[in-house]
Amino acid sequence: MKVEFYGHVRQYRNIQREIDANLQQVLLSGNYVQGPMLKQFEGEFAAYSGTRYAVGVANGTDAIWLALMALGIGPGDEVITHPNTFFATAEAIWIAGATAVFVDCCPKTKCICPDKIAAAITARTKAIVPVHLYGQCADMVAIKKIADQHGLKVIEDNAQAIGAHGKGFKIGELSDAATTSFIIQKNLGTFGDGGALVTNNADIDARVRKLRNHGSNARNVHSYGFNSRLDDLHAGVLSAKLKHIDAWNDLRRQWAARYTAGLKSCRTFDLPVELPGYRHVYHLYVIETKKPEWRDALLKYLNDNGVDAKTHYSIAIHQQAGYPWGKGARIVGPVPNAEANAACCISLPMFPELTTEEVDYTIAKVREWDATKAAEAPATQGPAQCGPLCACCR
Ligand SMILES: *Cc1c(COP(=O)(O)O)cnc(C)c1O
Repeated sequence: MKVEFYGHVRQYRNIQREIDANLQQVLLSGNYVQGPMLKQFEGEFAAYSGTRYAVGVANGTDAIWLALMALGIGPGDEVITHPNTFFATAEAIWIAGATAVFVDCCPKTKCICPDKIAAAITARTKAIVPVHLYGQCADMVAIKKIADQHGLKVIEDNAQAIGAHGKGFKIGELSDAATTSFIIQKNLGTFGDGGALVTNNADIDARVRKLRNHGSNARNVHSYGFNSRLDDLHAGVLSAKLKHIDAWNDLRRQWAARYTAGLKSCRTFDLPVELPGYRHVYHLYVIETKKPEWRDALLKYLNDNGVDAKTHYSIAIHQQAGYPWGKGARIVGPVPNAEANAACCISLPMFPELTTEEVDYTIAKVREWDATKAAEAPATQGPAQCGPLCACCR
């Protein structure tokens, strides 16, 4: 049996008529850039997010650095994030001209550990960029508290968690802006690239609207800016898909629950942790082998048996030779949890259109491999603890 990692075409077939109708509407309107469909989608996305504003941009990376720029953050400034995320989180800080400062993640959620932030704050620190990694919110209550104590801005990198919420908070509620990516593989994805940011701050909304459009909001009048727009064709796809996102996330949660039930007796790896009161939307279902040398062996076993498992992300950003060190970044280490995450992570196939047969086959193959190594498994009960502040270790 073959189990794919993504279900893009299945998803398109399921709602083809809705998507095609929106595409045709845009095509026949003659308005393809900053037209009525973009405006419509921005309205729908703000309403969905429960924020006052939503601004479409070209991709999720641009959304982060345009938000930083709108907040006046750039050269000489430091921005705190964690190194076990997609490269773009730090890349965006670098593009803005600021310095990325990496602190460790929590061993259970893999999101930034609030316990580690204070030690990284200097006179240059301007912002924190927590990532809602794999589909679960970082502890925004703790992060906001630290930010307020030190007068820092917060930009949520929400590329992976549209539709998630934390215990008592929504995404975009406790920050200056929340950014997202609509690249096809994200929970809400278009057929190509796209991104957006949501905010309750009219100033950020107005600044990003100008920055994305050559610094212009009136014909022939320009200030410093760029070209980073969300095309109306993509907005049409996203408008059609937004109506389904909650149901799709529910399906992801259902498959995650099935994986967890089928794998919880295994001894050679840890399962993802959903914090009480949080809604995890399982952009990725990531297990962590208890020994680094087991990761590639299990991954190979799955791949050899037709299961397209992958890793997210097997090289942490501070381990990337290609990251601009020096002014581009510094690390407040050690970061053992982030490094263990990079060394031991495996993402099992996860998309709404999976079938019971595919999930059960994947579970069976993982269990087969686990049985061969279970006798060597350490007796430790899951990942280590952070400290008293951290939500998942409290
Ligand atoms: C996908 C992703 C991005 C970047 O999005 P693009 O649209 O590819 O630019 C940024 N941060 C995280 C955590 C992501 O997963």
